[in-house]
Amino acid sequence: MQALRHFKETTILINVRRSIVLSLALGAALSLAGAAPVPPGRLRVMATVFPLAEFVRDIGGERVEVQSLLPPGADVHTWQPRISEIRRLETADLLVFVGQGLEPWLNDLLGGVAANRPARFEAASGLRLRPSQPGEDDHDHDHGAFDPHVWLDFGLDETIADGLTAALIKLDPGAAAQFRAGGERLKNRLRELDAAYRRGLKDCRGRDLILAGHAAFSYLAARYGLRQIAVYGASPDAAPTPKITAGIIARAVKDGVRTIFFEPGLGDKMARLIAAEVGAGIRILYPGHNLSPAQASAGMTFFRLMEANLESLKDGLGCR
Ligand SMILES: [Zn+2]
Repeated sequence: MQALRHFKETTILINVRRSIVLSLALGAALSLAGAAPVPPGRLRVMATVFPLAEFVRDIGGERVEVQSLLPPGADVHTWQPRISEIRRLETADLLVFVGQGLEPWLNDLLGGVAANRPARFEAASGLRLRPSQPGEDDHDHDHGAFDPHVWLDFGLDETIADGLTAALIKLDPGAAAQFRAGGERLKNRLRELDAAYRRGLKDCRGRDLILAGHAAFSYLAARYGLRQIAVYGASPDAAPTPKITAGIIARAVKDGVRTIFFEPGLGDKMARLIAAEVGAGIRILYPGHNLSPAQASAGMTFFRLMEANLESLKDGLGCR
């Protein structure tokens, strides 16, 4: 049964790849025919993760039309693009992505579109990156040497905001003043968020950030002096072994940890299991790659998610 399921998934994957190749030919024909018209005065931007989409919207205002490449709820680490996404990408002026292996499907996708369109902005490029944290397991994963979860460092986000502003100005120089003003407003909000985190996490009972999720918080942990101990690796598909879980439980007991954090995409089952062993509670922490369908329709924002995380951390770590 398991083997059959695997066979089916493999077949679907092969078909998707075949579609991508097919679309390459089709895409070339479309761009020759001059399809994909740009609405006058508005740049079309596509983003792979939700924080980048929001930043572009904040900087560009009504001069940009921003879309997420992934549907709500999709996991950027393991997503497989469909042919309709390639078509949508061909109509964009700018593709905004993180890089550093966060979007392992991206090369295949870009192989299906013209080399010069859309323009590309790689958020992790030029940033001072942290080495990829393999979680508590020791086997190799194909996730690159650096941690791609850069949006969880609000200082790096300021640099990303500058880069995005420059990328938008290059595509629409007439709106440069507006983009610069939008970029400055965004950076001010990021500085306020950073200050709230510094204040909120200054004086805490514990500094172990035990995550029954994947190792997405190394930037945040480093910035505010916390220790990230993640059950999963750098990607949610790097599942933990019983040995890893036992090691984390022992560490949590020794350090008197009273909260195990979990991420919504992976559910709270593992967190409950560890918490029961440790005698701790559980709390949610949002890595923020994407929104759930419910969050998307409720208009959730990056800043509100990060504020919710701060409250979760303050309560969970016993901060005054
Ligand atoms: Zn991740």
